[in-house]
Amino acid sequence: MAPTWDVIVVGARAAGAATAMLLARAGLRVLAVDQASFPSDTLSSHQVQVPGVSRLARWGLLDALAAAGTPPTRRVRFDAGDLVLEGCFPPEGGVDALYSPRRRLLDALLVDAARAAGAEVRENVRVKELTGCDGVVTGIAGVQAGRTPVRETGRLVVGADGKHSLVARMVGAGTYRGRPAASIACYGYWSGLALEGGELYQRAGLAVAAFPTNDDLAVVFVAVPSTEFDRFRRDIEGSYVRALHRCGDLGDRVRGAIPVERLRTTPDLPNAFRVPSGPGWALVGDAGVVMDPVSAQGIGNAFRDAELLAQAIEEGLGGTRSLDASLAEHWRLRDAAVIQMYELTMRLATYRPPGLAERLVLRALAGRQAEIDRFLGVFAGTVPPRAFFGPANVLRLVGARIGARIAAGSRAPMSAAVQGLDNREGGRGRAPRPASSVERPLPEGNSRRQAQSP
Ligand SMILES: Cc1cc2nc3c(=O)[nH]c(=O)nc-3n(C[C@H](O)[C@H](O)[C@H](O)COP(=O)(O)OP(=O)(O)OC[C@H]3O[C@@H](n4cnc5c(N)ncnc54)[C@H](O)[C@@H]3O)c2cc1C
Repeated sequence: MAPTWDVIVVGARAAGAATAMLLARAGLRVLAVDQASFPSDTLSSHQVQVPGVSRLARWGLLDALAAAGTPPTRRVRFDAGDLVLEGCFPPEGGVDALYSPRRRLLDALLVDAARAAGAEVRENVRVKELTGCDGVVTGIAGVQAGRTPVRETGRLVVGADGKHSLVARMVGAGTYRGRPAASIACYGYWSGLALEGGELYQRAGLAVAAFPTNDDLAVVFVAVPSTEFDRFRRDIEGSYVRALHRCGDLGDRVRGAIPVERLRTTPDLPNAFRVPSGPGWALVGDAGVVMDPVSAQGIGNAFRDAELLAQAIEEGLGGTRSLDASLAEHWRLRDAAVIQMYELTMRLATYRPPGLAERLVLRALAGRQAEIDRFLGVFAGTVPPRAFFGPANVLRLVGARIGARIAAGSRAPMSAAVQGLDNREGGRGRAPRPASSVERPLPEGNSRRQAQSP
């Protein structure tokens, strides 16, 4: 029997709703399901970096986000203790601001856009297993509102179901470049906290970000090494406030503000790449690549990945090339797009203070506004980390004499950090189970592709 849908997307937030929207706009029959209902929050602070905002603009959604009262952030202050840099983000695609929309607003906007494009989005549907035939995924089985059974078939099932993806687990998608969780994140909302722009603080063992968000609130995010977990959780509020007091006058300003909602805290912050496709399935967003939120890239990554995957699916199902070939190309493009930021994020998540070489580079920026803006653009995702911290640019910034000192120095500069990480882990990719001619629940571990880079 012909499948009902071209594509079934499991998960309908940043990655899933965006993928469903783009596929439906391309004329495909799309079903997206999520166990959540919308609008709803999820455990995530929500800076959407400039490239992500640029995609929202291109998709025609930025005006609605702004109209809902989401303030743009054009200026940012980077405070490393004895060194403070302030500037604006280099623009991308005509966008020069990041936005921090509440997830209940952003995700609902994407879900509405997917529906408006013609996708069917079903809420309160929990997928419990994949169905398959001859080792190929052919659909989903689950339950709606906790009781009504759901069974659907599609030519492709996309797992947009987040970092603990059921789809990835069921197909046994291999992982590589995995790193153990390194951080604890804790964030809260404050009323009456005046911010002139974004504020980023880096201290030994601490990273803090403060940004304006909807309803005239500020979201203040604190990250510390996961080795601090026991101490932090014994007194979450006290630990959070003490961390802010290490950040100039931010602690005092927060003390003078009004807390809104409870603090949210999590140590569940894995880092990994997963093989993103196999027979009848693909992964997008956190299900495919997840990284520590200390660099606040996940939503923008999800948008970029949605665009890359939707294009690959459109080509593959549309017949302009084989689906296998287009999904393999998606894998290559995805990894190439994300790897530098992943490496930088792993460096940030060590919570080590800048080494001598890094400090020399940062000091060399003093008074050079265009260079400061480019540096800030690294965090905003508009300047590739290697373009800034690569040897040629470092030499250009610090001059040949200091450059030679850096080269001879004992502490590795950040350029080494962003170039040196490539520790692939063996994956769990397994061969498909034996063929079966009837559609049935797919056993876990049904991936044909092994865990290695494309
Ligand atoms: C504390 C914290 C702070 C963060 N801060 C930022 C930040 O400032 N900026 C940024 O860009 N990123 C941030 N991130 C990362 C960001 O939250 C993620 O990268 C992003 O949400 C990924 O989107 P996604 O759609 O792939 O997955 P998710 O947002 O996790 O969505 C997955 C969806 O799948 C659904 N789902 C899961 N399983 C099933 C199932 N079996 N059946 C049906 N539905 C299912 C879930 O209900 C969920 O709605 C942060 C993350 C954390 C944890």
